[in-house]
Amino acid sequence: MTPQFGIQSVPVPVYHQEAFTAEETAVLGRFFTNTELPVFGLINLPEVVKGALFARYSRSSKSLRRLFLDEFVTDADFGIDTLTTVISADEMGSTRHAEQLYQRIFFDYGDDSVAQLGGAHLACEQASNLLTKVLEWGRLAAYLEQSTRYIRYDSPLGGRHRYLVPDEIGASSHANAYLGHMERTFEVYTRMVAYMIGVYEQRHPRSEDDSKMVWNATIRAKACDTVRGLLPVSTLSNVGIYGTGQAYEMSLIRMQASPLLEVRSYGEMMLGELRQIIPSFLTRVDLEDRGVRWSRYLAEVRSDLEAIAAQLGPPSDVGPSVTLTDWDPDAETKIAAAALYAVSELPDEALQRLVREMTQEERAELIAASVGRRANRRHKPGRAMERTMYRFDVSCDIGAFRDLQRHRLMTLEWQRFSTRLGYDLPEDLQEHGLADEWVSVMDDAGSLYEDIRSDLGVEVAQYVVPFAYNVRFVMEMSPREAFHLIELRSQPAGHPAYRAVAHAMHRAIRDVAGHRLIADAMTYVDHTDVDLQRLEGERKAAQRREAATLRPRS
Ligand SMILES: Cc1cc2nc3c(=O)[nH]c(=O)nc-3n(C[C@H](O)[C@H](O)[C@H](O)COP(=O)(O)OP(=O)(O)OC[C@H]3O[C@@H](n4cnc5c(N)ncnc54)[C@H](O)[C@@H]3O)c2cc1C
Repeated sequence: MTPQFGIQSVPVPVYHQEAFTAEETAVLGRFFTNTELPVFGLINLPEVVKGALFARYSRSSKSLRRLFLDEFVTDADFGIDTLTTVISADEMGSTRHAEQLYQRIFFDYGDDSVAQLGGAHLACEQASNLLTKVLEWGRLAAYLEQSTRYIRYDSPLGGRHRYLVPDEIGASSHANAYLGHMERTFEVYTRMVAYMIGVYEQRHPRSEDDSKMVWNATIRAKACDTVRGLLPVSTLSNVGIYGTGQAYEMSLIRMQASPLLEVRSYGEMMLGELRQIIPSFLTRVDLEDRGVRWSRYLAEVRSDLEAIAAQLGPPSDVGPSVTLTDWDPDAETKIAAAALYAVSELPDEALQRLVREMTQEERAELIAASVGRRANRRHKPGRAMERTMYRFDVSCDIGAFRDLQRHRLMTLEWQRFSTRLGYDLPEDLQEHGLADEWVSVMDDAGSLYEDIRSDLGVEVAQYVVPFAYNVRFVMEMSPREAFHLIELRSQPAGHPAYRAVAHAMHRAIRDVAGHRLIADAMTYVDHTDVDLQRLEGERKAAQRREAATLRPRS
């Protein structure tokens, strides 16, 4: 029996089934997941061919499969063999053919929407933590980054620890000081992680219910969490990206506008690799009057604003803080009205008037109805919760910022990393006599930062800053994204540093903005105090592994 999908059983409507000859069916079977249903996937085709097919789709009354047979397979220049991506020596040749096809077909279609029709997976390795944030800037792409919790940055890579030596610093008189400081930092990190593993093993003896694997992973993650503040921004990481041609194009244009050599040269490498997969979507990036001019525009705007900001005075250190700087006092009324919009037949203004005339209880019932009976945090209220915004000014350690920056559905902008806003010193380290060494690394980083900053500038100096230092950033989001972010980032499995930010945001929505109805609807915010953050997660992972091993193979 096929599994039931959806909330109720529905009869399958009768769809017209297109007729294909046996020969056509055999061809289609190689490139489409079925030849009968109105829904099908495209397989074994270069990304540009998929893009070309979809582009033709918009100007044709034919079905996609028919278009493919009539215009692609029988194409005099291309033919079926050049359309396949079956790994072979000829693959690059077929991509080149596909590109010519693309140029011909797309002539009339405009560039932008077409560049959304094909994508690529790219692995970006040995990227500094300055670069990873540039790579992860775009909203319309998916990212997966190496975890600072499961990876111990204690093994060397290419003869030294895992940090970047940026060309600007490597070629300067600061090179030796930089190398010495980085090596020492990673040595201290290595020692402290090992020491804290011992501390946590003693503090949390393994219970009989947990396997050694679960317990070890939990303890290791906790030690890595505690010590990660030592890691400098130059720490190397790996990021996996999936994005469309359009997302990559914008990313590469931004990268070329960067003042940092690492970012610009990495962008060039990415372009080279992407051109082997989706060449046609990336033709504009390095054209003088297109991408290059665009990059220059971005760089000019940034530099003009920097000149103005330079007049504003030195930074003010407020320590870790979460300040709700902007909100709409009328938000709950607007959300209640917006909740009715899609299900009513009244104009927006009339709904707002009607909701304003309601009693507070009636409005509360309306918001409760729009939130519904949530059974878990993934049951998020709808788009009415996008009717208003919260703007938070946050100062917290760079480690927590790295994690929070990953949320794509908001406006998040950060100031440059520096050693001027103070740093975090974890209590567990103080308790075990490790504070002096921690402070000494932070102080050394502070002086090296100032030396490099005064010589090579504020951008390059960022590489030196350890994750424990505070960074200031702004997060502007709708209540809907706040549901997602605050509930996810307050989970016991999360790092305590960003859990604290999530808790403060929740309190600010309730007490500063006074939006009790919204704050109280966030029922999956977890304010509990936990010591072994990863324990539940590791237990669940072990159960899933066990279930997967026991499940009979079909
Ligand atoms: C305990 C914990 C451990 C983690 N460990 C890691 C790790 O090791 N490595 C790592 O890389 N990340 C890690 N993360 C980060 C996490 O997996 C997400 O990348 C991060 O939370 C941001 O993405 P998001 O989808 O949750 O939220 P947002 O980007 O804020 O998006 C909110 C929602 O919008 C929708 N959405 C947004 N963008 C898209 C899109 N492009 N396509 C479709 N839907 C979209 C989705 O419904 C999404 O959930 C961890 C998070 C937690 C809480």
